[in-house]
Amino acid sequence: MLIARRLAAVRERIARAAARAGRRPEEITLVGVSKTQTADAVREAVQAGLADLGENKVQEATDKIGALADLRDKLRWHLIGHIQSNKARKAATSFDCVHSVDRVSLAEKLARGALERGKPLDVLVQIDLAAEATKHGAADHEWLPLLRKLRGLTSLRPIGLMILPPWAEDPEQVRPYFRRLRELRDKARQNGLLMGDALSMGMSHDFEVAIEEGATMIRVGTAIFGERHD
Ligand SMILES: *Cc1c(COP(=O)(O)O)cnc(C)c1O
Repeated sequence: MLIARRLAAVRERIARAAARAGRRPEEITLVGVSKTQTADAVREAVQAGLADLGENKVQEATDKIGALADLRDKLRWHLIGHIQSNKARKAATSFDCVHSVDRVSLAEKLARGALERGKPLDVLVQIDLAAEATKHGAADHEWLPLLRKLRGLTSLRPIGLMILPPWAEDPEQVRPYFRRLRELRDKARQNGLLMGDALSMGMSHDFEVAIEEGATMIRVGTAIFGERHD
């Protein structure tokens, strides 16, 4: 019940932010970030209407996807965390969408893994606009070459961009990052480098600002599932 109530509250927040921005709430996919949460908690959220799940570790996710195999057709699993090269094949065959493509070598491995699927794998390029040493993501000089490379990897469908901005208590401080990501997305679209308009940005405490700046996918963990068990 608690998860259903929290989910309803998040949907309310999405609707209000969308209304402020003159957008329709249906334009925004809510990805419930279930990392460290149990399969039972995910099942509860799915029963309350959640259809998109985000995980940051390939092994933890594949265990959970297996435990929820009866729901597989109804769900879309998103990989949102850093991917080690030796997990790329498993990532490509287990997930529906990978948000964290940040280097050419990883893209090539994902593309090879994706050939084993019946259909192309949706991917987003993660961009590091703050050049933070502790964060992953393609730097300023890397993301365009990476997108050009993706164009030649036909088992991958580059549908958009993702960002995990530096942490800030005040969401207004990350607004410039969200705005910049939208500008980069528009530029990539103009250059024919993206097959979709996805902008994956915004988490529990700042997704309203992200929606105002054009987010089409928000990644929300604690606001739905409560504190993480890590
Ligand atoms: C954990 C995580 C989230 C969700 O964070 P919350 O603050 O719990 O909403 C979103 N994006 C990424 C990349 C994450 O690792």
